Amino acid sequence: MRIARFSIDGNVAFGAVEGDGPDGLVLDIIKGIPYADFELSGTKVPLSKVRLLPPVLPNKVVGIGRNYAEHAAELGNEVPDVPVAFFKPTTSVIGSGDAIEYPSFSEELHHEAELAVVIGRMCREVPRERVKDVIFGYTCANDVTARDAQKREKQWARAKGFDTSCPLGPWVETDLDPSDLAIQATVNGEQRQLGRTSEMIRSIEDLVVHITEAMTLLPGDVILTGTPAGVGPLHVGDEVAVTIEGIGTLTNKVIKRG
Ligand code: MG
Repeated sequence: MRIARFSIDGNVAFGAVEGDGPDGLVLDIIKGIPYADFELSGTKVPLSKVRLLPPVLPNKVVGIGRNYAEHAAELGNEVPDVPVAFFKPTTSVIGSGDAIEYPSFSEELHHEAELAVVIGRMCREVPRERVKDVIFGYTCANDVTARDAQKREKQWARAKGFDTSCPLGPWVETDLDPSDLAIQATVNGEQRQLGRTSEMIRSIEDLVVHITEAMTLLPGDVILTGTPAGVGPLHVGDEVAVTIEGIGTLTNKVIKRG
């Protein structure tokens, strides 16, 4: 099932994305909370009539760096012995169609197409064999990075945590085998990144075990699983799209911060 979060007439709701009929994609509004028990209300609205919001409101977004060998190499980095984890704050999260604001302290903004894992239940110290039980679904992410600040500053809080640096969406796909999906980024329609999730150095199971050794994950929390090779610059006016097989396309425009 594809679950979107959206606003219509000033109200915010979750809906299941269905079909491709004469009205295009339709949202069946959800009664209840997607992570817990919910039912479809039967009230349907065309997707074209709503504004999509980030599909989840995470308590935290945990990023993983250098999880594809070719990407680590393209930036001149070694693959680390233990996964590199970092946070993106909740204020960095935007949805599909929202604008990425070019930060004033950077002159080298990069896109990073990533598979995002959405957590479905509160969990800590998750054993490998239970990882699938704590995952709600998957969505597309763009780990937008101020590469110059990342190189200049020892910690990545500003480089990867500025406002609008975490586009997520367009929705969460709950029925998906994430082990070998094509993942792509385009800028203004031109392909920049193309990889497969099977190229990840550490699997999703490895990452959930590693992160929950340290911290409790809550429903709606997000793990960014790293980016394949081909990262590159974004400029004001660009439109960047992240497409993952079986999920959909996350599209954002880059604007000057007003
Ligand atoms: Mg990244």
